[in-house]
Amino acid sequence: MPVKRYCSFCGREIEPGTGKMYVKRDGSVLYFCSSKCQKNMLELGRDPKNVRWTKAFEEAKKVRLHMVRQVEQNTGNPQA
Ligand SMILES: [Zn+2]
Repeated sequence: MPVKRYCSFCGREIEPGTGKMYVKRDGSVLYFCSSKCQKNMLELGRDPKNVRWTKAFEEAKKVRLHMVRQVEQNTGNPQA
């Protein structure tokens, strides 16, 4: 039974037999579904939270919206 792996950048599941396992010099292991994800993380140094098409961005967006709603409830001001 193949192990399910998730892309270290975009967070999506990697189909068994595809993708790339990248071991950094410090011993940490990264999995990439595509060269697009690998380049974004290693060459371009992008944070997944700031890239719109990643799962990390969606999670960060949920947290932001939740915080905005809490502020609205506490102040009663939808603009705050
Ligand atoms: Zn990916």
